[in-house]
Amino acid sequence: MPPSRRKFKLPHPEPTDALTYARFTGISTFMRLPHITQPEELDVALIGVPFDGGTTYRPGPRFGPRHVRAQSAIIRPWNPVLHVNPFAKHRTADFGDLPVNPLSIEDTFSRIERGIAPLLEVGVRCVCVGGDHSISLPILRAVAKKHGPVSLIQFDAHNDLWDEYFGSKYSHGTPFRRAFEEDLLKDGEVLQVGLRGQVYGEDDFDFAREHKVRMVTAEKFHKKGIAVVQSHLRAFRRKPVYVTLDIDAVDPAFAPGTGTPQVGGLTSVWAATSSKSRHPMTPEKLLRCLPPIFSSNCSASSKWPPSRANFACTTISLWLSGP
Ligand code: MN
Ligand code: MN
Repeated sequence: MPPSRRKFKLPHPEPTDALTYARFTGISTFMRLPHITQPEELDVALIGVPFDGGTTYRPGPRFGPRHVRAQSAIIRPWNPVLHVNPFAKHRTADFGDLPVNPLSIEDTFSRIERGIAPLLEVGVRCVCVGGDHSISLPILRAVAKKHGPVSLIQFDAHNDLWDEYFGSKYSHGTPFRRAFEEDLLKDGEVLQVGLRGQVYGEDDFDFAREHKVRMVTAEKFHKKGIAVVQSHLRAFRRKPVYVTLDIDAVDPAFAPGTGTPQVGGLTSVWAATSSKSRHPMTPEKLLRCLPPIFSSNCSASSKWPPSRANFACTTISLWLSGP
């Protein structure tokens, strides 16, 4: 991501210095960054989307952004593996929360789409922190309006391609099916990593096959390692990619706070720690070879947010080290 050439009125936003104000002090913001609500002042916006009206099992992710803010205070600015301070080079801030409607999923979707649009309009890179995974649909709608259909890399235990639940077309189990139907995604350019667990029947995968979704199950990942993921990446090169991390991609032993825990997942070593390294399976590898227009929006409740905070921070670092 090249440094911005735009002119700014506000001083360069920086996280509160933990050597002056201890990390447990102050008002919680993402990564202790200033709260800035003018899109034109930013390169990267960290945005809370505290909505869980799309959950079908354990609720709670409405508290996700608040808890990620608190937990992200532990992050320090310098990444010693990538040799970068992401906040020094790019104007990054806590944009605040989008104004969701806890009683209406449709109204929330239009609020999210309207909330994201002005950021995309001026070229801000957005890192959305959910919230349940249903919020990906309105975000993708806003993205597609600006950029056209995009590719998708999704870390998730579930493919979220179901048709409906209790008669509703909108839930955390359906966003990417709706996105295909609305031409927000492209056939053959969706990669899902970490899939596992039981489904209702073999035909649950029909839609994915129809749209040539690239599926890397957790089982395959554990058996064959990174090579199997890398083999898909060529299809995404030089294309705008929306990357999304559902925290249940990570095994509940490491991230128990998720709404639909599923055993046999990726480890926190991958999700949080190795993403800071030059290990070839990390998002670094993904993002260095790709120009992502968007990053992770995370579905989960509030009990284990450090991996999400870490992932978001790492993502920003990665943009800096990319082309
Ligand atoms: Mn999931
Ligand atoms: Mn999901």
